Amino acid sequence: MSHPQTLLAPAHSHRAPAGSEPPPGAAADWTVPQHWDELTDEDHWVWDTLFARQKTLLHGRAVKEFEEGLDLLSLSRSGIPDFDELNEKLAARTGWTVVAVPDLIPDEVFFHHLTERRLPVGDFIRSPKQLDYLGEPDVFHDVFGHVPLLAQPAVAEFMMELGQVGLKAIEGNAIDRVSRLYWYTIETGLALERDDVKIYGAGILSSFGETHYCLESARPRRLKFDLERVLRTAYRPDEYQQCYFVLDRFDDLASVIRGHDLTALIAQLDGSPDLDPASAGPDDEVRIP
Ligand code: FE
Repeated sequence: MSHPQTLLAPAHSHRAPAGSEPPPGAAADWTVPQHWDELTDEDHWVWDTLFARQKTLLHGRAVKEFEEGLDLLSLSRSGIPDFDELNEKLAARTGWTVVAVPDLIPDEVFFHHLTERRLPVGDFIRSPKQLDYLGEPDVFHDVFGHVPLLAQPAVAEFMMELGQVGLKAIEGNAIDRVSRLYWYTIETGLALERDDVKIYGAGILSSFGETHYCLESARPRRLKFDLERVLRTAYRPDEYQQCYFVLDRFDDLASVIRGHDLTALIAQLDGSPDLDPASAGPDDEVRIP
C-alpha cells in the first residue's frame, strides 16, 4: 500500500515524445478500437466499484454541473461504458465523442483531437489492487472524470479552444504554458458555489484521496484563479497538488480563453520566472469556511 502523503494522482500528461509513431494496431491518429466485448468481469468490477464510491463521495463536493452530467454514464449495461453507446448520448449534447488510445500520446495528437471535439481515453483500467493508485490516465479517470462535464456546452467549448491554443503553442514552443492551464483547470480545478469550494477538475473527481485532500487538508494552498499566475506555475502530475486555483464561479471557465488573447499573453510571459506553487500572499488565498 502506498502511504497517503504520496498517493499518486493520475498523471494525465498525455505525453509521448513528439514525433513518435503510433504503436502497432493504432490508426494514424493513434486511436484504437475499444473492443468492449474483450473486457473482463474484473475490469467491469473495478469500474463499478470506483463509480459507486466516487459518486457517493462527490455528492455535495463536486460542482452541480458534474452531478447533472453523470446521467450520461447510465448506459444499458453496467461496467465500463461501451463507447459507441456513450458517444451517441454525448454527441447529441455537445458534439463531443471519446476515442480509445493506447497509454500516452504525443501532445500534438492530443491537442489536435481536442480541436475536433474528441477526448482521447486510455484503453485500459487500473487493477483491483490499485484502486487508489494510477500512473497513467485510465478509462475511469478519462470517462468518469471528464465526460460528465463535457456534456456542458461551456466546458465543451473551453476544451475545444484549449486544443486550438495548444496547437498554436506547440508551434511557438510554449506548450508547457497551455499544459499548465489545462492542468489547473480541467484536471485540478476548483470553483466557488455560493461560498463553498467545489471540485470540477477531472484528476480530482476520479481520485478518492485527492477529493478529500483538496477540500479538507490544511497542506495545499487554494488560490484565487489568476490566469497569469496559472501560466507561470509549474505542477507535479504524480502527487497531490501543492496548490489549487479556485474560480469565483464555475461559469467563469468559459471566459478564461475567450476573454483573453492567450497566444499574446504567452508570448509576453516568455522568459518570466516560474512562481512557486506553495508560496503566495495571504490575500491570494481562498478561505474555506
Ligand atoms: Fe485527464
